[in-house]
Amino acid sequence: MAPLSVICLVLAGASQAASFSRFAPSLAPRLNANKPIDAFVDSLRLQKEQVQVVHDYLVKDSNLDAYLGHRSYDSTQLAATACGTLEILLGKDSVDTSPVNETVVQESWSQTAWLSPNCASFPDSKEDVSLIIKTVQFFGTQFMVRSGGHSPNPGFSSLAGPGLLIDLQRLNRISLSRDGKTVALEPGARWGAVYSTLDPYNVSV
Ligand SMILES: Cc1cc2nc3c(=O)[nH]c(=O)nc-3n(C[C@H](O)[C@H](O)[C@H](O)COP(=O)(O)OP(=O)(O)OC[C@H]3O[C@@H](n4cnc5c(N)ncnc54)[C@H](O)[C@@H]3O)c2cc1C
Repeated sequence: MAPLSVICLVLAGASQAASFSRFAPSLAPRLNANKPIDAFVDSLRLQKEQVQVVHDYLVKDSNLDAYLGHRSYDSTQLAATACGTLEILLGKDSVDTSPVNETVVQESWSQTAWLSPNCASFPDSKEDVSLIIKTVQFFGTQFMVRSGGHSPNPGFSSLAGPGLLIDLQRLNRISLSRDGKTVALEPGARWGAVYSTLDPYNVSV
């Protein structure tokens, strides 16, 4: 079999290590919450109807208003709102909300990494990944990225409590170049599928 070059797609800006205090300083001046919400919704480049739905969902959230205004807020509720936003953006089939399905949690190889986040999201395109990253950035929510989930270290590709898991299992395309010398693997691809897809071309990695 001929050897191949492999391009692995890596998600830029992986896990966010920042920790967020449950209570922001109470002396900070109150901001007009709608401006950051408008800027966030704008940045998503959505269809007109979707803009209204996301905007309406966010402006009525008093906990988000407190977070944006530097007042005390509940970080679990904030993460839940981030998950709710993703349900609107990606569809309910692409977000598993609290309590996250045990099967999803236990897809991590090691029991030490069987941790439950607020929600798990399942992007199936780079556009979905972009929406998720913009959302976690806006909410300042902790997130973790999982491809195969083989890491036994808790908190590397798993997450407990406030925050969300970005599970890349649906990003699993395997594309062989026209000249048959390079294969592009999306991060959710499994080696078994890679080998069986390439076998008919008599190439391997
Ligand atoms: C039993 C066992 C045997 C192993 N054997 C080998 C071996 O033979 N050779 C070897 O090299 N390694 C081996 N490993 C180590 C394994 O390859 C690594 O743990 C590897 O990181 C697993 O890949 P994964 O996709 O499952 O990672 P995950 O557990 O999903 O993620 C690992 C880390 O990478 C980050 N991450 C995941 N996907 C992305 C992405 N797309 N973009 C940015 N960051 C991302 C995660 O946030 C996490 O921090 C073994 C591990 C185990 C448990």
